[in-house]
Amino acid sequence: MRIVLVGPPGAGKGTQAAFLAKNLSIPHISTGDLFRANISQGTALGKQAKAYMDAGNLVPDEVTIGMAQDRLEQPDAAGGFLLDGFPRNVNQAEALDAYLVEKGIALDGVLDLEVPEEEVVKRIAGRRTCRKDSAHTFHIEYKKPEVEGVCDVCGGELYQRGDDSEDTVRNRLDVYHRETEPIIDYFKQQELVVTITALGPVADVTQRAMDALKKPAKG
Ligand code: AMP
Repeated sequence: MRIVLVGPPGAGKGTQAAFLAKNLSIPHISTGDLFRANISQGTALGKQAKAYMDAGNLVPDEVTIGMAQDRLEQPDAAGGFLLDGFPRNVNQAEALDAYLVEKGIALDGVLDLEVPEEEVVKRIAGRRTCRKDSAHTFHIEYKKPEVEGVCDVCGGELYQRGDDSEDTVRNRLDVYHRETEPIIDYFKQQELVVTITALGPVADVTQRAMDALKKPAKG
């Protein structure tokens, strides 16, 4: 399956993407994770991306689209993929479509995770992320780790992402409404969008997502 995951920051895209990718045996491709890996490795691409990410703005398309395409070219993505955080604006969506047409393949669905705005800010400001695997996230109130500062899953160090502070979250939400939400209408024109609520226990959201993906939006 070839799937795109869309939703505001704090909707649980990373968490759901990890479960869904495992259930569907496809790679989880997160452009945010790719940027963070480049930053921690000190690459030129990471240096270009960092200031945009710290401010909660989008990294320019010239950098992002090439990076996403390079990742899609990897052999593990040949049979399908779950894109998390890409595309994030209409220009990127058009670039993805052009790429898929060139390869003679198509998306199977766009999963839209809905969550109320007040919930997003609460979720993100208290979020703590594992340095080893960003799909391992905790919350200082709602999902405390057994040992403070340590990931329950793999023992990695928990930290607050620089772009998870309240001010930056508000900017990321503005960016989401302005730049990213229009891609939902864009993909609706292709009858690809399935919308589910991202509220409730993680496992319930995963189940809802799996059910929604089984029923193709088309036809
Ligand atoms: P995420 O981990 O998906 O929340 O992404 C973290 C940050 O990485 C975003 O706030 C952007 O600064 C940057 N980023 C990730 N994906 C993209 C994208 N498709 N286009 C532009 N910037 C992106």
